Amino acid sequence: MSTTTQNLLPCPLYINGEWTERPDLPTSPVHNPSTGDVIAETPLADASTVNEAVQAAKDAFPSWWETPAIERARVMFKYRTLLEQEFDSICKTISLENGKTLGESRGELQRGLECVEYACGIPELLKGEYLENIARGIDCEVIRQPLGVCAGITPFNFPAMIAMWMFPLAISSGNTFIFKPSEKVPLTAIRLIELLDKAGLPKGVLNLVHGGKESVDALLTHPDVRGISFVGSTPVARYIYETGTKHGKRVQSNGGAKNHVIIMPDAEVKSSVNGIMGGAFGCAGERCMAIANAVCVGDASKTVLPELVDAARNLKVGPTDRDPQPQMGAVITREHRDRVTELITAGSDQGGKILSDGRGMNVAEAPNGFYLGATVVDEVAPSSTLAETEIFGPVLSVLRASDLDEALKIANASAFGNGTAIFTTSGRAAREFKHRVQAGMVGINVGVPAPMAMFPFSGWNQSFFGDLHIQGRDGVRFYTREKTVTSRWFGDEDVWRK
Ligand code: NAD
Repeated sequence: MSTTTQNLLPCPLYINGEWTERPDLPTSPVHNPSTGDVIAETPLADASTVNEAVQAAKDAFPSWWETPAIERARVMFKYRTLLEQEFDSICKTISLENGKTLGESRGELQRGLECVEYACGIPELLKGEYLENIARGIDCEVIRQPLGVCAGITPFNFPAMIAMWMFPLAISSGNTFIFKPSEKVPLTAIRLIELLDKAGLPKGVLNLVHGGKESVDALLTHPDVRGISFVGSTPVARYIYETGTKHGKRVQSNGGAKNHVIIMPDAEVKSSVNGIMGGAFGCAGERCMAIANAVCVGDASKTVLPELVDAARNLKVGPTDRDPQPQMGAVITREHRDRVTELITAGSDQGGKILSDGRGMNVAEAPNGFYLGATVVDEVAPSSTLAETEIFGPVLSVLRASDLDEALKIANASAFGNGTAIFTTSGRAAREFKHRVQAGMVGINVGVPAPMAMFPFSGWNQSFFGDLHIQGRDGVRFYTREKTVTSRWFGDEDVWRK
């Protein structure tokens, strides 16, 4: 049962440098997953509201583009300082509306901050190429220019970091931007944009629009939007890519995942258990890089698995808005908790053996929170629902393989291809895995190999639709287009040849 807190938190839009409440718009509730309370109502922007934001971004573009890159970088430097000052309070907002622990929120915001730091180097990142004398007296250069108005659409699970994958690089590259966060977590977005405003970003350069499908469709089809960055589930990611490109936009679209970790019999037990626990149950499994399937090779099921099950059974779950902090928080909504519960039951019905059961988790101090305990299901068949479906909750399926070849076959049969990892002490096995595994982000004795700001977030297969990935140099390339200039000068030889 949801209760509504008496004082709902404000949820304004930010268009053309002005904060604006839109009581005329329909709304969608925002929960505190730790308690089940409704804490805000997200206004769902319609097409005409989105059009206002796009117009503001379009009007702001010419002068922002003419602003020297070093001056745009200065806004990022100021932004970075303000983010550091407000760091703890933003983390509280992330945990409040997402349910993850404060430690996880800190990790998330730190990753986002690093994206801002990367964007501080934009004058260097935007430098082009030059070759003199491509023919006698003729020179050629490549310069990078911004696309114009770009938009970013983000999921609920990393309210700060995923937004910061996008707008710092987009605007420091000279674009203007519309940010549409998940309607489930609008409050962190507001905090991030308040500080950008304080950092002196000119009006209209970044606009915040809340909403659901209608607002996204308005962005996807608007003729003045040139680039779309999306992160979310695979069906929506595919839709965004197809619709956006059909409307002539450049699109990078990150989808869902089902990540495999291979545990070799020679894996070092303690560090493997730590890495897999973090990968499977960190952020309550609501991570596109979460470890979902653990493939135990040979005796790994006798060495690593028992310790893993023991750790899962003892993982402390609870509300993240009080001390002491739990090891795992709630999932995002009641509906999501119920869906995950049903998937665990389906896994057991299909022959999986539940070794740690997180269904029906009762947290006495917060009986209405959306809790699940850490769940481990063993002997899951590779073609079962549990093994193939993205669950996005604290559920680890264990599959068995007799050798690395068989384990790779299982991992490579996945329709997704986001993250993957191997735990082993054999360099040869690690090298073989790195070479043959069909996924875009690979960990060797690293459970969550999520790349930092200077590297691309490079999912494959149904985990990514597009060409240029988010973050790093790919990110700069995505938000700019190249212009190749060939030049030759005639006349005035008398200036230098007397
Ligand atoms: P989601 O796809 O439901 O929503 C993502 C965004 O799309 C939200 O802003 C939402 O308002 C919008 N949206 C939802 N349905 C839409 C529709 N029919 N048409 C247009 N827009 C729509 O995803 P979520 O539940 O918020 O996030 C979880 C998903 O995101 C998981 O599948 C997870 O794997 C994925 N994810 C992927 C990455 C990655 O980098 N690959 C990172 C984080 C999360």
